[in-house]
Amino acid sequence: AKETGKNNCQFYAHEMNASLEHKLALMEGLRTALAERQFRLLYQPKVDVETGRVFGVEALLRWHHPQRGVVGPDQFIPLAEESGAIVDIGEWVLLTACRQARAWRDAGLAPVTISVNVSARQFDEARLVQRVQRALERSGLEPEWLELEVTESLVMRDLRESVEKMRALERMGIALAIDDFGTGYSSLAALKSFPISCLKIDQSFVRDLDSSADDQAIARAIISLSHQLQLRVIAEGVETGAQRDFLLRNGCREMQGYLFGRPLPPEEIQRLLEGQATV
Ligand code: C2E
Ligand code: CA
Ligand code: CA
Ligand code: CA
Repeated sequence: AKETGKNNCQFYAHEMNASLEHKLALMEGLRTALAERQFRLLYQPKVDVETGRVFGVEALLRWHHPQRGVVGPDQFIPLAEESGAIVDIGEWVLLTACRQARAWRDAGLAPVTISVNVSARQFDEARLVQRVQRALERSGLEPEWLELEVTESLVMRDLRESVEKMRALERMGIALAIDDFGTGYSSLAALKSFPISCLKIDQSFVRDLDSSADDQAIARAIISLSHQLQLRVIAEGVETGAQRDFLLRNGCREMQGYLFGRPLPPEEIQRLLEGQATV
């Protein structure tokens, strides 16, 4: 038994070194990724299931790493937060997304809201509001077509300051959505203090909707809460017809998920919107 224990330790030490090396390599790469234009945005459709229309898209970041291929945000956003690189990356995301939305409009396509994820470190940054303002000015996008998705945990760090920033964004005409709603520890307090317009039902509550009575109860409660507070509600991670039907039956008509569309490059969103314009 002792022998096995020792082997296990070596195994873990090896694993840890490998992941630490991986992490350090990514962190190093992050320093130049922006300058070397290795980031791309994909856009995932948000659908009003009652009408079938795409009314918005969420920008989702991808890193095209020269050696490692496409790296997903879960792998590098936490590192970018740690190193502070997230601030510049986030600014690039905002500007790129706003310009894209502007370009779709200029191409004569039906207008869609563009949703941009803002992470903790970005939100905490003192000049967040000015950065958003600047992205709008530089892109020429009207503020009512921009939505920021924030998570509850992040805005809880300094409640008063967060609320002030949110109010400033709201005054500019920008919509705020609470992402991953229900997964933080203070969701309800957030609702009371924040000037938000939309709740996103986290995909962890959507995944097992077919089989879990608990998840059904939670989804129903979030939908009902949003209706009573006069907020929009959108479900994310919708993959099956049964999930869609349950949500629709219970009053949630805005959805996002592989059932309707994966995150897509801008050309494909354009094609999708072109098809929509003629309907
Ligand atoms: P999120 O904001 O909760 O985004 C939803 C994630 O679920 C995305 O993963 C999306 O591709 C994935 N997804 C969408 N539909 C489905 C579905 O039907 N089934 C399943 N299983 N997954 C689905 P992704 O693109 O890997 O992004 C992961 C997270 O990284 C995002 O979670 C967001 O928190 C963060 N992120 C992405 N882009 C940015 C960005 O530009 N800035 C910041 N700060 N964070 C970002
Ligand atoms: Ca999001
Ligand atoms: Ca989410
Ligand atoms: Ca998430």
